[in-house]
Amino acid sequence: MTTVLGCIADDFTGATDLAGLLARSGVKVSLRMGVPTDAPSETAPFEVIALKIRTVPVEQAVQQALEALDWLQAAGATRFFWKYCSTFDSTAQGNIGPVAEALMDALGTKQTIYCPAFPENGRSIFMGNLFVGRQPLAESPMKDHPLTPMRDSNLMRLLDPQVTRPTGLADRQTVAKGSDALTNELERLRKDGIAHVVVDAVANDDLHVIASACRNMPLMTGGSAVAMPLPGIFARDGLLAADAPGLVQPDLGRGAVVLSGSCSAMTNQQVEAYIAHGCPAYRLDPLDFAAEGHAKAVAWVAAQDLTKAPLVYATANPDSVRAAQERLGVQRAGAMVEQALAACAVAARDAGAQRFVVAGGETSGAVSQALGVDRLDIGTEIAPGVPWCFATSNGTPIALTLKSGNFGSKGFFRDALSELERE
Ligand code: ADP
Repeated sequence: MTTVLGCIADDFTGATDLAGLLARSGVKVSLRMGVPTDAPSETAPFEVIALKIRTVPVEQAVQQALEALDWLQAAGATRFFWKYCSTFDSTAQGNIGPVAEALMDALGTKQTIYCPAFPENGRSIFMGNLFVGRQPLAESPMKDHPLTPMRDSNLMRLLDPQVTRPTGLADRQTVAKGSDALTNELERLRKDGIAHVVVDAVANDDLHVIASACRNMPLMTGGSAVAMPLPGIFARDGLLAADAPGLVQPDLGRGAVVLSGSCSAMTNQQVEAYIAHGCPAYRLDPLDFAAEGHAKAVAWVAAQDLTKAPLVYATANPDSVRAAQERLGVQRAGAMVEQALAACAVAARDAGAQRFVVAGGETSGAVSQALGVDRLDIGTEIAPGVPWCFATSNGTPIALTLKSGNFGSKGFFRDALSELERE
């Protein structure tokens, strides 16, 4: 089916988040890990390409985004969405602005909008300033992010050094007047040569106004939330075939496995809750397999009754993580855990598991790669931003859910498995 909206996301779990929100409407959404090497086939009306370009050098980010654009254009898309984090994670050089500008040039368009707001998750924009909950971005914990410390809350000031053309603002006063008022304001700004327009949004209704006013722009940019109304709007505009088939969930065997490599506070609670429920669990300690490798863990998985959805976890408290990192180095400890969980995923699949619950952004990348998954069809949402996804691994249909660290509530692992039962 011809693709109506082509989306490019700057990181992996951000892509799942966007795909999940788009799929809330019941439309078919397909997520590709990286730019596919093959020409488009069996495309969905909403295609999302997950890149990993948030902090790579600008030229690399631009090049990969343009390759993704080419593929999406070949899939038939004429409207595009550039997705980044709702906290506008970027450095002084980019990559949000440079990628947007390169996409605009390739599409021959003179203007785009920037709306990272996600009011449901406490991200709002007022007078061009981004708030995280009640704090301005630059006073939120994002000020200390290891890779993209956000030290200014004003999106125009953040964007200015990243782009070559003028930035401007469409403020809440305009958005509150509705989509026609916003369309007129964007046109007025365009005549003044304003190429990059930050748009205020403090509530969900604002996102509808913005999506409606911008629905025919060749390029929109933002967080996942401003894209959420687009499927409904496109359906009303007659752009989606009324009889377009929704996702058909494959028949899946009952075998399942839970793989957790995130050490976030929430994942620690999720692991604890799952174990407390009596589910079989195996703890991976990087200090053990520094000497022994991960063969014991793999053998444990292969010997399990997979209908009980056993858990393999490296999830640990900050002190244990620090101890492993001091002995092995941060990179090495992380890579060892990722390889172990990826090997366990393959062992579980080979033993018949077709349902995979995975916790951790990097971990999700390692597991999907080991399972040879390069395309995911998006199913129902388990928690905001975390959908079930369907794919094929070694010729067998599987379901995967990829949860980034802090997402989901305490009972997430069991919730995820029972959500799949309900389908
Ligand atoms: P999150 O989404 O919470 O950031 P990630 O999977 O992206 O989770 O990152 C967690 C990183 O920590 C991974 O590289 C993982 O391999 C590593 N890790 C997991 N458990 C441990 C541990 N016990 N000691 C050291 N590193 C660990």
